[in-house]
Amino acid sequence: MGQAEIRIDLDAIRHNVRLLRAAAPGVALMAVVKADGYGHGMVPVARAALQAGADSLGVCTLDEALALRRAGITAPVLAWLLTPGLPLADGVAAGIDLSAASRAQLDELVAAAAAAGSPARVHLKVDTGLSRGGATPVDWPALVEAAGKAQADGALEVVGVWSHLAYADAPWHPMIDQQLAGFQEALATAERFGIHPTYRHIANSAPTLTRPDAHFDLVRPGISVYGLSPVAGETFGLRPAMTVQARVMLSKRVPAGQGVSYGHTYHTSAETTLAVVPLGYGDGVPRVASNAGQVRLGGRNRTIAGRVCMDQLVLDCGDDPVASGDVAVLFGPGEDGEPTADDWADLVGTINYEIVTRIGGPRLPKVYEHE
Ligand SMILES: *Cc1c(COP(=O)(O)O)cnc(C)c1O
Repeated sequence: MGQAEIRIDLDAIRHNVRLLRAAAPGVALMAVVKADGYGHGMVPVARAALQAGADSLGVCTLDEALALRRAGITAPVLAWLLTPGLPLADGVAAGIDLSAASRAQLDELVAAAAAAGSPARVHLKVDTGLSRGGATPVDWPALVEAAGKAQADGALEVVGVWSHLAYADAPWHPMIDQQLAGFQEALATAERFGIHPTYRHIANSAPTLTRPDAHFDLVRPGISVYGLSPVAGETFGLRPAMTVQARVMLSKRVPAGQGVSYGHTYHTSAETTLAVVPLGYGDGVPRVASNAGQVRLGGRNRTIAGRVCMDQLVLDCGDDPVASGDVAVLFGPGEDGEPTADDWADLVGTINYEIVTRIGGPRLPKVYEHE
């Protein structure tokens, strides 16, 4: 291996997609690969997910969707985060499904379809309680009426009607029932205006695994595709795909009482071996993990000694035989005792989504296994 890298096990991605398929039988599966595949690399993950039976791909931005097309991926792709003024005609021409949650967005899609010379494929989004994207229940009837007219004119095809949950990670929260009821109402309203979508969808990972009553025609799992659990305390048989590791740059003996790293927030308690690992907050290691985060090296998990720097962190290895070039593991699936993305998330007070998405940023090279 090189100096520092992210290993992505594409077999794990395929295993997870098959597991999700089995959890939601008889409905379409859209693998969500936004944010560079949650830091795992959008295109390789998309390919692996499609190989394992995903029907379509979900992304946020038009740029992400067009990048999938440029990579030669022809499967259906939905992009749902569209600010005014984007080159939507490029999306229509590339056969990308686009979301609309307001009259203004719908009008832009109609104009884009005219420019592209083919109907836009649209998923109408209703806000059932998250209060983020989506038309409110008050604005919804006018939106579906306008969409019905545009569809009758041949300007667009309403492929989907969709929404997103506020409490997906708490599978039995009453708000889920409330949102499902609101979704049913929105679907009934759409039907009245002649909208009969192929895909009604509201489930991300957690309800895909826990709430069959939320599956409708399509599920949109993201985090679980990467093998991380969307529900605290459960694994569902998912296999984490990402391992972050680096070679020790330098190991050296230092005396007792030596201050370590910026600000000397750590002091050695005895003569000891320090190992310098080339991973820092520039790579996505949270700086708040200073003196707290665990890294596996030489068969043991060791707490980071002192501050996490931009590019480096230091481990106090005592008298263990740790040498330059040894491999330190920041996190992985946990099968060999190494910390997991969940351990890191718990430690720094965030969710596994943020840990992998940050660390999978541009700096560390990604190496794909079982391509
Ligand atoms: C990110 C996202 C998903 C996937 O969510 P997970 O919790 O990662 O499964 C699904 N739908 C929408 C709208 C999203 O933004």
